[in-house]
Amino acid sequence: MATEVIHLSGAIVVDGETELTDVWSIDGRLTLEKPPRPATLRVDGVVLPGLVDVHSHIGLGEQGAVEPAVAAEQAVADRNTGVLLIRDAGCPREPYDTRWLDHEAWAPRLIRCGQHLAVAKRYLRNLPRDIEPDELPDAVATEASAGDGWVKLVGDWIDRSLPEPDLALLWPDDKLTEAVDRAHELGARVTTHVFSAEGAAQALRCGLDCIEHGNGMDWEMMADARAKGVAVVPTMIQREHFTEIAAGGQGRFPVWERHFLRMYAERFAQAKQLYDSGVKLLVGSDESTNIPHGIYCTETDLMAMAGIPSEAIVEAASYGARDFLGVPGIEEGASADLVVYASDPRQNVAVLRAPQAIVLRGSLVAGAVAAAVL
Ligand SMILES: [Zn+2]
Repeated sequence: MATEVIHLSGAIVVDGETELTDVWSIDGRLTLEKPPRPATLRVDGVVLPGLVDVHSHIGLGEQGAVEPAVAAEQAVADRNTGVLLIRDAGCPREPYDTRWLDHEAWAPRLIRCGQHLAVAKRYLRNLPRDIEPDELPDAVATEASAGDGWVKLVGDWIDRSLPEPDLALLWPDDKLTEAVDRAHELGARVTTHVFSAEGAAQALRCGLDCIEHGNGMDWEMMADARAKGVAVVPTMIQREHFTEIAAGGQGRFPVWERHFLRMYAERFAQAKQLYDSGVKLLVGSDESTNIPHGIYCTETDLMAMAGIPSEAIVEAASYGARDFLGVPGIEEGASADLVVYASDPRQNVAVLRAPQAIVLRGSLVAGAVAAAVL
């Protein structure tokens, strides 16, 4: 239902410093000044800029790209948790593309990374564009043009050719640095999937903009990332799957298995260290092949279980992530993409599980109030 004028009042959280008492949505846009037209709906509560999932995969299933109807279900499941902006962290474009979602008013906004880039036979089947290491700079340029300002690489994965198979790098430093430079020249940023310490160290050496998972980062790397403005997406739900991933080796790769079990044991302590280091943290659910869509709040709850304060999680989930991606939150003329809660999620992040209202492009699309009104 497209509601013409919505008056939102209470605590309007613009960012970590600014809070307002009222904001209005008129025909899909925000205004901070009381409009002449009367409100057709009023919602009171704690209002945040729409939540952001910086690592999700809309349109991806276990066998690769999924049919449009399945991609739509994934997008709605995410939206109904308050996620109104998604950085799609890699998805094939064939045989189905998700571009059509950009024209659907009910769909959360997507910032695409293009298709993951990996070395042939060094990552999951059907998901990445498989290339040779030498082809990386050109492939990054292609994906930069196909995406929405981001490129996603697979930085490390098991290397079965090693005498003791373990996580190992996919790209040589020189090709990776050249590729990142090419992306930057094209106005795109680059993020990378890295589990290992070597993978994170290489990402920091070669100028990447963001690190996905980042389990191997030690205190020194965290400080380096902070100094360079490199954000980290700890993907806590994925960390919960590390025992299964280790078991999947069926005893054939003991070093790799121990590596995952160690990262599993350290998953909370390392995430807390990331927070303590002051590095820019972002919330990413990694909803994809092994994680269902619509469980964003499990990610924020796990961050809280790691000991990260609720206020920092809300920043990483909302205005902080928008700022990092360059997408406006609550400001004059911005798209009215908001989530409203009965109490303050900055005090207790569990509140994110019960949105009162989810407003997307000025329309009430979900939440308790929506259930009563629609
Ligand atoms: Zn992912």
